[in-house]
Amino acid sequence: MRILGIEGTAWAASAAVFETDDPDALTSATDRTPDPAADHVFIESNPYQPDSGGIHPREAAEHMGSAIPEVVETALAHAAERHDGDGPVVDAVAFSRGPGLGPCLRIVGTAARAVAQTLDVPLVGVNHMVAHLEIGRYQSGFESPVCLNASGANAHLLGYHNGRYRVLGETMDTGVGNSIDKFTRHVGWKHPGGPKVEAAAKDGDYVELPYVVKGMDFSFSGIMSAAKDEADAGTAVEDISAGLQETIFGMLTEVAERALSLTGTDELVLGGGVGNNARLREMLAEMCDQRGAKFHAPEPRFLGDNAGMIALCGARMFAAGDTLAVEESSVDPNFRPDQVDVTWRGTDES
Ligand code: ATP
Repeated sequence: MRILGIEGTAWAASAAVFETDDPDALTSATDRTPDPAADHVFIESNPYQPDSGGIHPREAAEHMGSAIPEVVETALAHAAERHDGDGPVVDAVAFSRGPGLGPCLRIVGTAARAVAQTLDVPLVGVNHMVAHLEIGRYQSGFESPVCLNASGANAHLLGYHNGRYRVLGETMDTGVGNSIDKFTRHVGWKHPGGPKVEAAAKDGDYVELPYVVKGMDFSFSGIMSAAKDEADAGTAVEDISAGLQETIFGMLTEVAERALSLTGTDELVLGGGVGNNARLREMLAEMCDQRGAKFHAPEPRFLGDNAGMIALCGARMFAAGDTLAVEESSVDPNFRPDQVDVTWRGTDES
């Protein structure tokens, strides 16, 4: 079985074909610089990069309008090379249905419907945050992990209970990556800011910033204001970067530990582009090690927005018969992970 996945919730357009018979043969096409070690990733080299400020929804959607057809064609062309000639080149088309930027999602949804109808195959609507969890679960082989999703627009802990991925804790304001990006824009660095903070923090000394955890939830807006104030007062950006990393990642690690403790699970997976940060992975790994839990961080190409996880999660859903009629396939910018009936996991699992 082959499933096409299409991703374009924000700034990265990509398409991937997942083969259930040969899971290592995941063919992906992306508009970003691929991991050089992954020779099956093909580049369409026109990534979206805002001239100034953060992601502009209209500009990002214009980018999707040209990039999505290119990456879909590339992924399908490579799938066709492996196809034995019988039946359609893919068995279903999975797409990111949300959450994300509405103008971008609508382009992804339109493309998915067009391809599915042209090939006369079913459509599968995937929750992007659930897909982050599923790629970690698949790669790690963990049974029922807690998932920390630390991405640009989101920050939450998910755990499976009674047929759904429940939100155990989440941000009360901005996403974790977006908050870091807001600070870096303030000091004049281009989007995305996370990797620049990581590099700067290596030469910095910790600066104290507000640490805001309320039970299982966290808040990043006060830290960002304080970090901007420090920059305006002349504190070195390297020192602020070190303070940001220690504070924000300390908060994420604390809540991740509480989620493991409350659920009784001893497996943690990481998702989202902020998961590329080595210091965050180090803190999570250390916490898991101390409590005898297992930790898995997917490789970088499966951490940020990527179609591979959409194709994989789509394959799980398709196998469970979880498909969408075209007339019911509208996208949802606010699609929460706990709205999804997890049809592809056994009914005896709690
Ligand atoms: P989602 O739709 O899942 O919320 P997104 O498009 O908002 O995703 P991702 O692609 O998952 O975001 O990740 C992008 C974010 O990751 C940006 O905010 C970026 O600054 C951050 N990021 C990337 N690399 C690093 C790093 N090394 N350290 C910290 N943050 C990073």
